[in-house]
Amino acid sequence: MAKILDGRLMAEELLLDQTRRVQELRQKGIVPGLAVVLVGEDPASQIYVRNKGLACERIGIHSETIRMEERSSQDEVLAVIDRLNADPAINGILVQLPLPRHLDERAVLARIMPEKDVDGFHISNAGKLFSGQQGVVPCTPKGIIYMLKKGGVELAGKEAVVIGRSNIVGKPAAILLLNENCTVTICHSKTKDLTEHCRRADVLVAAIGKPRFVTADMVKPGAAVVDVGINRVDGKVVGDVDYEPVKEIAGWITPVPGGVGKLTISMLMENTLEAACSQAR
Ligand code: NAD
Repeated sequence: MAKILDGRLMAEELLLDQTRRVQELRQKGIVPGLAVVLVGEDPASQIYVRNKGLACERIGIHSETIRMEERSSQDEVLAVIDRLNADPAINGILVQLPLPRHLDERAVLARIMPEKDVDGFHISNAGKLFSGQQGVVPCTPKGIIYMLKKGGVELAGKEAVVIGRSNIVGKPAAILLLNENCTVTICHSKTKDLTEHCRRADVLVAAIGKPRFVTADMVKPGAAVVDVGINRVDGKVVGDVDYEPVKEIAGWITPVPGGVGKLTISMLMENTLEAACSQAR
C-alpha cells in the first residue's frame, strides 16, 4: 500500500514558513505583491484565481486581481501588463490561462517582465530552465519535485517517465527530473507502447488531462506516482490516475484533490516571495 504524498499537509507546513518570511520582509519595509490578471468568465479559472488570492491573504502577501471582460482586446491586456510591470508594489504578475481564443497568449506572456513572471512561462525563464541557469521555475513542476523530495523518494539514477509534453507541466517537469539525475522518458499522445514505458518507471508523472487514464497494470510495484490531472467527472474532481487500485501497487502516490494542486499554489507563493526578495536587492 502506497505512502500518500499529502499535498494539503505539505502546503500547510510551507504556509507557516512563508508567513514567517513575509513578516520578516514586512519588518524591513518590503511588502511582497502579486497581481493576477483574469480575462473572461471561465468558471474553473475563477476558482483558481480566488484560491490564489486567498493564499496571498493567509500569508500576508498583497494581492490584486485584475478582472477584464471576455472581449478585451490584445492592446488592452498588454496595457494592463505594462502598468503592472511598472508598478513597484507588484513583484509578481500572473495571467490566468487559458486566455480567450482571440488573444495571442504567447505575446501576452512575453510582455511580462521576466523577473515578475512568477508562473515561469516567459520564454526567458523557459530558456534558463532548459540551459541550467537560475530563473523562475513553473509552479506545478516545482511542486512535483518538492513533493517527491519531501516524501523521501530517491531520484538520482532512477527511471522517470512523464506522460504529457505541455510547456506548463510535462516538459518542465521532465527537465527538473533530469536535473535531479533521473533518466527521463517523455511520453505523449503519439507514444507507442505507452504501458511498456510506464511499467519501467520508478517515478511516474501523469499530466494528461484524462480521468483515471493510468491504470494499475501500467505501474511498476513500488513506484512513486504523481498525479497532476484535474478532471471533473459527475461533479467530482478526479486525477489522471486510477487512484484506488494504483494505491495498492505504488510505493508513493499523490491524491487528487489534495495533492499536486495544493503545492502549485504554495510554489506560486514561493516564487512571489523570491521575486520580492530579488527585486528588493
Ligand atoms: P495539455 O492538454 O496541454 O497536455 C496534455 C498532454 O497529454 C499532451 O502533451 C498530450 O500529448 C498528452 N496526452 C494526451 N492524450 C494522451 C494519450 N492518450 N497518451 C499519452 N499522452 C497523452 O495539458 P496540461 O496543461 O499539461 O495539463 C495536464 C493535466 O494537468 C490537466 O488535467 C490539467 O488540468 C492538469 N493541471 C493541473 C495542475 C495542478 O496544479 N495540479 C496544473 C496544471 C495542469
